[in-house]
Amino acid sequence: MEPQPRFAILISVLPIIFHLFRGSRNCSSLKMHLEIPDENRYIGRKPDIQNPTKKQERKEVLDLPGRWDIVKNVRQKGKKVAAVFPIHYPRELLQAHGIHPVEIFGPPGWPTQTADRHFQSYTCAIVRRGFSFLHEKVLSHVDLVVVPHSCDALQGMASVLMDFTENGKPVLTFYLPRSRRKEDEAFLVNELRRFFQALTPISGRIPEEAELKKAIRLNQHVFGILEKLWEEHVLTGWSNLEFFRLLRAREYLPAEDFLRYADTAPSHFRRIRPKGRILLSGIVPEPMDLLHLLDELGLLVVADDLACSSRRVYRNSDLVSDAFPCLAQCLMAGPPDPTRGDPIKQRFFHLVKLAQKHRAGGILFFLPKFCEPELFDIPLLTKMLQDEGLATLVLESELESSLSQQMVTRLEAFAELVADRTEHLLKFKETPA
Ligand code: SF4
Repeated sequence: MEPQPRFAILISVLPIIFHLFRGSRNCSSLKMHLEIPDENRYIGRKPDIQNPTKKQERKEVLDLPGRWDIVKNVRQKGKKVAAVFPIHYPRELLQAHGIHPVEIFGPPGWPTQTADRHFQSYTCAIVRRGFSFLHEKVLSHVDLVVVPHSCDALQGMASVLMDFTENGKPVLTFYLPRSRRKEDEAFLVNELRRFFQALTPISGRIPEEAELKKAIRLNQHVFGILEKLWEEHVLTGWSNLEFFRLLRAREYLPAEDFLRYADTAPSHFRRIRPKGRILLSGIVPEPMDLLHLLDELGLLVVADDLACSSRRVYRNSDLVSDAFPCLAQCLMAGPPDPTRGDPIKQRFFHLVKLAQKHRAGGILFFLPKFCEPELFDIPLLTKMLQDEGLATLVLESELESSLSQQMVTRLEAFAELVADRTEHLLKFKETPA
């Protein structure tokens, strides 16, 4: 072929190539539009900047009162209210004094400007959002603030509250020992007595031993109910979101109200069709849309290792006669927890035992960014768990109002991996010996 006709052919096909290319671009952008989930799909709706804690519009099966309703209600009855930061604290001592504890975990999406004046940007969101929320919304409605020494970040926050800010409200600290020897138990008994005495000027009374024991028994009863709820959840496959909304209501509901909801609410829970079974570890599943996404992906949380939930089930069947040693033994009996200085090996055995018991194929670690106690354990712990055949996924969050698209994508991939492993585990169990 001569060079000139070849050039003419090229010129004549150029418009066709151009149209084809344009068409394929349009197709791929349309495909992307269809495939990428709408950013609101898992989050109900965008956060309201003016009022980030406003209830989302997703239809809830469980019609629970909010923390705010409870604070107002309790105060109207003439009782005192304590704002309590995570994680471990002697709820029984507050109850015996007639003080109602309402826990602060965030809330997700709350602006952090007030805290940013006092803390470094690499302080976790539990402290930054919680501190801001406390000052902007909570302080004028509560009678005291309790800050357990769970980590350096919370200890720093307690110092700022006591020494650098004008709160007008008493701030009590609570120190939990960092090990579980006999000496630690003796330290804890003294610490409980100190905390109990510090409550007297606030409540204006010294509760009887019988009142303390009654509060201990009530909480032990709640722990028993929680265990039963978990058993039923694993058998029935309740929606993770609805189940955890009930579990987390314990952070602010009076025990009697919680027991009433625990008795009636589960019969209304939606059920999911699980494709995979997982354990959920970390501090708090916020935003709760995480659990909604797990529902949609068919991942059933069969046990948790969360600071806001099962790490605070201090079950103790051996209730000794004196209230303070009894309470100390209960607190010492909780499961392994990185904020209590428990060795990684103990956490590993605990998680593997849970995974084996419930045939879980993987563990999701949902952690606040910059949470030192959690993150120190993660490299070695995940390696040990993977060697044991468990899929692991570590996600770090700053208690935002919604899940990021990147998190959604990673959770989708994790769900496929776990579904395969769970299927394998089920087949393995069904194979006759
Ligand atoms: S998230 Fe971690 S660092 Fe932050 S308060 Fe909780 S334990 Fe401490």
